[in-house]
Amino acid sequence: MTTSAENYLQHLDRICAETIAPQAAEVDRDGAFPTASIAALRAAGLMGAVSAPDVGGLGLGFRGAAAIVRRVAEDCGSTAMVLCMHYCGTAILEAHAAKEVRQAAAAGDHLSTLAFSEAGSRSHFWAPVGTALRNGGGVRLDARKSWVTSASKATAYVWSSKPLQAEGLSTLWLVPTGAEGITVHGPFDGLGLRGNDSSAVSAERVRVPESAMLGADGKGFDIMMGVVLPLFNVLNAACAIGLMEAAVRGTAEHAAGVRYEHLDSRLADLPTIRNYVARMRIKTDMARTLLDDTLSAVDTGRADMMLRVLECKASAGEAATEVLDLAVRVCGGAAFRKDLAVERYFRDTRAAGVMAPTTDVLYDFIGKIACGMPLF
Ligand SMILES: Cc1cc2nc3c(=O)[nH]c(=O)nc-3n(C[C@H](O)[C@H](O)[C@H](O)COP(=O)(O)OP(=O)(O)OC[C@H]3O[C@@H](n4cnc5c(N)ncnc54)[C@H](O)[C@@H]3O)c2cc1C
Repeated sequence: MTTSAENYLQHLDRICAETIAPQAAEVDRDGAFPTASIAALRAAGLMGAVSAPDVGGLGLGFRGAAAIVRRVAEDCGSTAMVLCMHYCGTAILEAHAAKEVRQAAAAGDHLSTLAFSEAGSRSHFWAPVGTALRNGGGVRLDARKSWVTSASKATAYVWSSKPLQAEGLSTLWLVPTGAEGITVHGPFDGLGLRGNDSSAVSAERVRVPESAMLGADGKGFDIMMGVVLPLFNVLNAACAIGLMEAAVRGTAEHAAGVRYEHLDSRLADLPTIRNYVARMRIKTDMARTLLDDTLSAVDTGRADMMLRVLECKASAGEAATEVLDLAVRVCGGAAFRKDLAVERYFRDTRAAGVMAPTTDVLYDFIGKIACGMPLF
């Protein structure tokens, strides 16, 4: 059965059950890239969720991509984050890359990602300090990127630098991962999302043709804010919601399943425990509802779209840490073991708040909007 806009979630459910869920514990334990999971998603055409049908994509837009990332996150946060960054990179390629690159990204033959964060400007991804200089008929790139998901597995990076010569904060480039002068400082050994291969990458005298520029010189900031930030925030929120959904389900099943034999009762018979599960449910539903409203704002171009885009990531990221904190409380000692997977979700949820735009930066932006101040 060919994957289509009508049946993609059916395909995804099968892939999650057959490949992504069974691999998740190992991916986490070994910090291993989820190669088999990405291959299964590729085989089903799901790497092309945000790509246009004319290059072989599914054209599912924000809503479809969010549904996919959320469903995958229920089983494996690392795979969900690899997908999230591929979709964000692909959205830029869709707008600014050559047709062959777009076709390859849609087919999943080209794994995309963003190389924005730098050691110099840290989470302030909109202000790269890495440089691009005209050099003997081409362009020379130098930078210290601090985090790149799929750093050693991607086909090419969507790369930010200071502009070549135009005014502006940045310019974007398509940089092959194998380019001479690129060094991936892996392997990634993190607290959570351990399989997402999120390593530092340096560029020393990397040469690319000027045609590798994505968009116009000096227009990187506009692309980051107009194309990447809305999609990244939505997908990051979807990832957090998927992790929460899995945690609520697993916690409720645990509470309903374990018994106090001497009292002939279950953990869920304790009102305190049900109270905590209810709070987990409410926080998850609040984040999901806000994400749904954000998607409606995006679909209709509503005036408050940017506010919602900022809110949905802050809300879901923070809710996820709270929900997983409650999950650990409800599951008690069992949450310390690997078999419930609660401890994996607990670790995976910690990433959302520090992934740029970080929760604190989002609070600052949202506060500025509320107070009628410009964002930058
Ligand atoms: C799993 C994972 C995957 C990632 N993948 C990618 C990727 O593919 N591509 C990419 O480009 N980056 C990626 N990143 C990097 C990420 O987007 C952030 O840039 C990075 O996590 C920020 O860490 P830092 O220590 O450099 O932040 P810092 O800037 O040092 O921030 C430290 C703290 O200060 C706070 N802070 C900073 N500025 C302000 C402010 N103005 N107001 C209030 N508080 C502020 C932050 O919120 C944070 O809590 C990834 C990060 C993680 C954890």
